[in-house]
Order: sequence, then C-alpha cells, then structure tokens
Amino acid sequence: MNRRKFINLTALTAPLLSFSKVTESIPAVKPIMISTWEEGKNVNKAAWGILSEKGRAIDAIEAGAIYVEDKISCCVGLGGNPDRDGFVTLDACIMDENANCGAVAGLERIKHPLSVARKVMETTPHVLLVGDGALKFALQNGFTIENKELSIDAKKEYEKWLKKSTYKPVINIENLPVQVENKDGAFTMPLKFDDGSFNHDTMGMIAMDVSGNVSGGVTTSGMAFKMHGRVGDSAVIGAGLFVDNEVGAATSSGVGEEVIRTCGTHTVVEFMRRGYSPETACKKTIERIIKNNKARAKTLQVGFVAVNKKGAYGAYAVQEGFVYAVKTKQVDRIFKSAFFYKAPKSED
Ligand code: ASP
Repeated sequence: MNRRKFINLTALTAPLLSFSKVTESIPAVKPIMISTWEEGKNVNKAAWGILSEKGRAIDAIEAGAIYVEDKISCCVGLGGNPDRDGFVTLDACIMDENANCGAVAGLERIKHPLSVARKVMETTPHVLLVGDGALKFALQNGFTIENKELSIDAKKEYEKWLKKSTYKPVINIENLPVQVENKDGAFTMPLKFDDGSFNHDTMGMIAMDVSGNVSGGVTTSGMAFKMHGRVGDSAVIGAGLFVDNEVGAATSSGVGEEVIRTCGTHTVVEFMRRGYSPETACKKTIERIIKNNKARAKTLQVGFVAVNKKGAYGAYAVQEGFVYAVKTKQVDRIFKSAFFYKAPKSED
C-alpha cells in the first residue's frame, strides 16, 4: 500500500476507530442477568430459572423484583424506610425489548410495585401512574392492599430520625463513616444503620434472554425520609432505567435527582450507541453529573451499570462503593464498580 492510499484509508477509518472502544468485561454468553448492589446476587438467582429455561427477559425482571420486594429490607418494598411523614411510598418501572414501558410512583401499601408497573405497561395506553391513581389501578387489577404498619427496622430508624427530623435526605456514600455531620447538618441521617445496612439499595435489574432480547426493571422505596410526594429516578424511564434492544440497557442507583437531571440511563445507552463500552458510557454520564455541580457531586452517590447487545457489561459511580451482581452460565459474582472519587478511610 502506498503512503497516499494509507493516509486516505486512515482518514476514513479514524472516526470509526475513535468510537469503537474496547469493552472492559469479557462478553458473556446469553442469557445474562445483572442487578445492583450485593443483594443483586440473590435477585439474579431468583430470576435465573426463567432465563436458563429460555424464558423472556421481561419475566426474569419481574421474578427478580418479586423476590426482593418480598424481603424485608431497608430500601425496597413495603419493609423499606418511610418518607418524612411516615408513609412507605414505592417507585418502580419496567421496560421491554420493544420500548414498551410502565411505571408507578408514590404507590402505597402494595407489595409488588414492579408488577403493577408491568400491568400499566401491558394494559393501559399510559406509562406512569402515581399515588392514589396507581393504588386504585393496582386494586382493580387484583393486587391486595397490605397493612400500613412500618417494618420493625423501618420503625426503629424512623423514630431515630424523628428526634432531629433534619430534612436533608442525602443518599449515603458507601464506606463513609457513620453519622458524619457537617455544619449545616447535611449528613445527620444515618449513613449506615446499626446492622450495617445502608439507607438506600434500590434494585435495578437488566436481563438479556437467550434470544438476545433485553429488558429492565427498577423497584425501590426511594430515599429514606424523603418529602411526601417526592419521586426519584426509579419511576422515570430514561432516568433510572432505559432499554434499547438494538444497543443495550442501563440502570442506576443513588440520588435520583441527579440521575433525572442528566436523563442518566438514556444518556448511558446513547453513549453505547456511539460505540463506547458499557463502563465508558457510564463514566461519561457520571462525568456530566460531576460537571453540573462539582461541590454537590462530592457528597453524593450515583452509580450506573450497563450491558450492551454483545453481553459486555460495566459500571461507573461518583463514589467508590457501588457494586453490582452478574449472572451468566460462567459468572455468578459481585463486581466493584469503577468510580470517580475514592472513599475516605472509614473511622468505624
Ligand atoms: N435512586 C433512588 C431514589 O432516588 C434511591 C436509591 O438508589 O437508593 O429514590
């Protein structure tokens, strides 16, 4: 090849090369199930039966959600922490391979909000139902209303919080010392509970089935002690969850407001569409959050996890500490996400 030909060829391929980034993870063989946080490992297990039996990704997502919503945890389902008025209000969303989606926000006293979101997706022309309307819809669709009582753990934490009632619903940064307080009380909420659990743990899930179809779901009780009526990213398609069956999917956990401001998961998927690997796509989106307000970003956590159509996956978070679980035929483990800020040394 002469020099001129080589230069022409390079000029032609350069833009392509600059977008075809190397993926960080080893492409997995379908099916694949990815869920946020340590609990994601159990969620993946609960969903795996469907995927390994050649079932649909969307069914695996619902199975994973049902499993975690049934568990008494601080952050998902009716066992979760209440808002500042003492009500447990649930946000959830779901999206399938055909861009069908459904969501509920501020749903009270219903055990399985993600299943209600699925009903919204499958039986209404709408995407999002909120509050009383979502409850009415759930009851009309055979969901049963549950007791109003807080779980024992949530009651304990709420009573503790009520003593000060500082309205600063900050999502913890994992690994930070317990009870950090700055001069305007920005961290008076417990960052970590006595039993070692955290004040958030939204379950974000992505599944790819044997046919290569991708679906996702998110379920949460949201930020502990939030303002009544506050809705986070977990009910917002394009924020807490986005799926594009040609490209892949992303989900998030952390301070929902930051995720909504950046249309977080939609942004991640768009970066993957341009050829960036899942981890780099998550990183570029986190960088936007940081760029928007560096001072604010230092004290909050947001993590994204994404998978592309080839089955490569990766994650990136503002702070060290975000983890996610992956299950394939070969892999069944929890991965640490890459991050922007390293956690300070814990004092506890
Ligand atoms: N993203 C959730 C929210 O803002 C909280 C979480 O991830 O735990 O409600």
